[in-house]
This record gives sequence, structure tokens and C-alpha cells, in this order.
Amino acid sequence: MARHVLAALALALAGPGVLHAADYSGPLFDAHLHYNEEAQSPHPLPDVLARMQRNGVEAIVSNSRPNDGTKALASSPLTRAAGVTVVPFVRLYRDRADYDNWFRDESIYELVQAELARGTAAGPFRGIGEFHLYDSTNANGPVAKKLMALAEERNLAVLAHVDDVAIDLLMANTPSKGQKVRLIWAHTGIGGAPAARVDQLFTRYPLLMGELSYRPGLTCDGGKLCPEWRELLLKYPARFMIGSDTWVNQRWQYYDELMKGYRTWLGDLPPDAARRIAWENGATLFGVK
Ligand SMILES: [Zn+2]
Repeated sequence: MARHVLAALALALAGPGVLHAADYSGPLFDAHLHYNEEAQSPHPLPDVLARMQRNGVEAIVSNSRPNDGTKALASSPLTRAAGVTVVPFVRLYRDRADYDNWFRDESIYELVQAELARGTAAGPFRGIGEFHLYDSTNANGPVAKKLMALAEERNLAVLAHVDDVAIDLLMANTPSKGQKVRLIWAHTGIGGAPAARVDQLFTRYPLLMGELSYRPGLTCDGGKLCPEWRELLLKYPARFMIGSDTWVNQRWQYYDELMKGYRTWLGDLPPDAARRIAWENGATLFGVK
């Protein structure tokens, strides 16, 4: 209940005319947030926290290149004061070069192990990623295989920017063959895997979750949900989450508009489904109260 009140207050403070009456007005869980090196000077902590707060974002999955950004968010008293809960993930990248090589680079596996051992001031890391696979066959790279097995063994979530073929390959690389690992599919397939294919993968892997930033075909006229995606979200209201994907600074500049866009189409769903996708699914997954 407190979260309802806080979110409503934050939105009221943002000023009149920001939201339409039918928009979703409850709390948001941003399940795909980066606070990368280049963002930190133009957008210091008070700036990014103010953006979250005025948009009713009360919890975030944070993963940053390098991991210092996430640790700064997790450890600052300002974060607590802003009412934001940080769910920290280990980013696999020290720099841009690691994007194309992490899946076969043993030093990345060592980096992940070291970060997991260290944790953050807000507690242990809860997941691994976001990682990218631009060629799905690299899901079978030696380090990709080891990390998927590690995630399942340690009960860590995985945030993966991959295509639908790689989802099957990554799942096959876990001891349970994908039945027990918490894989969050970043963008639910940025290449636009058909809704029927997403449906098939959700059926096959009961813990697979879909994060919806940049998802092609999600919204249609007026920022409302397209019919086939509305149907899919209503079929699996416990399996989707929203995210900002602040991968470049421009995404921070438009953070208000991104969140407003989510509130528009969330308002198009029955209130229970909207609240689950906006907040509850992430909160449940990571035990955020
Ligand atoms: Zn991302």
C-alpha cells in the first residue's frame, strides 16, 4: 500500500498533464538498467535517482560497465533516501571489446567469480548480465556454457540479449536443461521473434521471463499495445517485465518519456495484469518488499 501512495505522490509532484487518466499509476520495477561509465559525469547519482523517483520507479535491476556504477547505486545513502531498491547483477564487460569475446574468454569467468565473492554494499549480486550474443552459436562458447551452469547452481538470474535460437542453446547448457534457471530474455528478442515463437519458448521453459524494452511490434497507434502482444501479455501476465535499457546517455535523457510510454500501454491492460508486469513480477522474482 505504501508503494501505491509513494508512486502516486511522485507522479503528482511531476505535475499536471503528465499522465492520462487511464494510464497505469502504480509503482514500476525497471528490470533492465545500466549506469555505465560515460553516464556518470553528465548524470551523477542525484540526477539518475531523481529520474527514477519522479517516475515512480521503486526498484531496478542494475548492471553497469564496469560494475562500479552498480556498486555506487547500491551503496549510496541517496538511493535509500530516494526509495529505490537496487537488485545488482554482475556485468560481464570491462570495456566495449568484451562484448564480442566474453563467451570464450576465461578471464571473464574469473571476473564473475570475483565479483560474486565480493558482492555489493546492498548485499550479494543476484544475477549475471546483461550479456549479448550477436551470433547465436556462441551460446555454446566455453565460458557461456560455464556461466549458465553457474547461474543455475547459485540460483542467479541471467539477463541475456540474444535471439530465440540462442535461448534454446543457453537453456540446454544448464543441468536442468532450462527447467530451473531464471533466464530473463532482454527485449524478448530484439530481432522481433514472432509472438507465436515467444509463446512456444515460454511454454517450454517455465521460468523464462521477457523484458520488454525495444521489443519490435509491441506497441501500435497511440502507444497502445498491438493486438497480438496484448494477447500474449494477458496469456502470461506473470512472465513479463519492463525496462529502460539505459545503454547510452540518450536513454537517460528520455527516461521520463520511456516510463510514460510504459504507463500508457500498461493502462490498456486489466489492473491486475498491469501491476504484475509493471512491478509485481520483478518484486516477486527478487523478493523486493
Ligand atoms: Zn541493455
